[in-house]
Amino acid sequence: MATINPFRSALAQLERAASFITVAPGTLAQLRTPKRTVQVAVPVRMDDGTTRVFDGYRVQYNDARGPFKGGIRYHPDANLDEVKALAFWMAMKCAVADIPFGGGKGGIRVDPKKLSVGELERLTRSYTRLLKDVIGSRRDVPAPDVYTTPQIMAWIVDEYAKIMGHTDLAVVTGKPLALGGSLGRETATGDGGFIIFEELAKKLKLKPKDTRVVVQGLGNVGYYLALRMHDAGYRVVGLSDSKGGIWDKQGLGMNPREVLQWKKKTGTVVGFPDTKSITNEKLLELPCNVLVPSALENQLTGKNAKRVKASVILEMANGPTTPDADDIFRKKKVVVIPDILANAGGVTVSYFEWAQNLQGVSWTEDVVRKQLQEKMTVAFNEIWKTAEQHATDLRTAAFIVAVQRIATAMELRATA
Ligand code: GLU
Repeated sequence: MATINPFRSALAQLERAASFITVAPGTLAQLRTPKRTVQVAVPVRMDDGTTRVFDGYRVQYNDARGPFKGGIRYHPDANLDEVKALAFWMAMKCAVADIPFGGGKGGIRVDPKKLSVGELERLTRSYTRLLKDVIGSRRDVPAPDVYTTPQIMAWIVDEYAKIMGHTDLAVVTGKPLALGGSLGRETATGDGGFIIFEELAKKLKLKPKDTRVVVQGLGNVGYYLALRMHDAGYRVVGLSDSKGGIWDKQGLGMNPREVLQWKKKTGTVVGFPDTKSITNEKLLELPCNVLVPSALENQLTGKNAKRVKASVILEMANGPTTPDADDIFRKKKVVVIPDILANAGGVTVSYFEWAQNLQGVSWTEDVVRKQLQEKMTVAFNEIWKTAEQHATDLRTAAFIVAVQRIATAMELRATA
């Protein structure tokens, strides 16, 4: 099967949104392509004394509203078109959340699970040296993404400080708490998704006990989202990781804490007591009310969308649904809460972290939570209203809001 190019999907989403509104042709032309694309060859001295070279990327998509912002992904399938799409979605996401950032993304084509801690550190420092002229707290602020961690952010802070001759904590976000990180950042993406979901649940009058939830992916994002759902009384009946999935056929629901303990002990969620093993593909088609893709792109496609049973899809991953799957969901009246809204909690708390670093202050967890709640609720209501105004779906509405905000900034600055 030919792989689906995520950047092509991103552009299709842009064109669809643009067809609902008036955007100056020169502005739209700029939105169709990243402002700057950096491609690097990242040399790493391996533990056995040999040197390997990994492909690295940083795509700076748009900075009309503020510095470029977005994570760095370490993944064996990372490639330029994927990073371009992810950078585009970051620009849109920051506009949806109404935080003063543009959008960017980085990636290294590497399987970090096959590297030692020392190799991972040298890889990160090497990549940082290559990007030293394009990143910076006022220029482009990276953060964690798939398979990158607070420790990796700490290495970036240190390498960047060595080059600059002083420490600038705001050069990256998602740092460890003891090194300028923010309270609430670790759980932020899951928390934000849950806040958005609860707003929708109010509109649709969903009752936790009668609502079965399936979550694909048990990384930082999927885990905290599943946990918030479970703690609020929703029934988490399906979970998965990269090795496979589990299904609680009885439908009572699992406690994600226990599942994570099991995964830590055995290396996978598969085999968790009283569940049936299931593939990641079949997991997406389980009988449930809410499906939460929290792993990678292109999970819901023209091929499997018709078999999806959920009536709500909460996109915690970036780009999990292709445009042809979207067409099917629109016809089936499945409510898709788009990634650029559903998972914007992560970058929103990244913004709080950056703002704290620049001011040299640190907020309490309570302040972070309240501010996140406020930002996410406002974003949800604006997008809901826009969807009603244009009689369209939430994804199109989110892109309409984002494109209008970015286009306004570009036109005020006269970048066209
Ligand atoms: N990687 C996350 C995302 O896709 C967070 C980005 C950030 O905090 O800058 O939204």
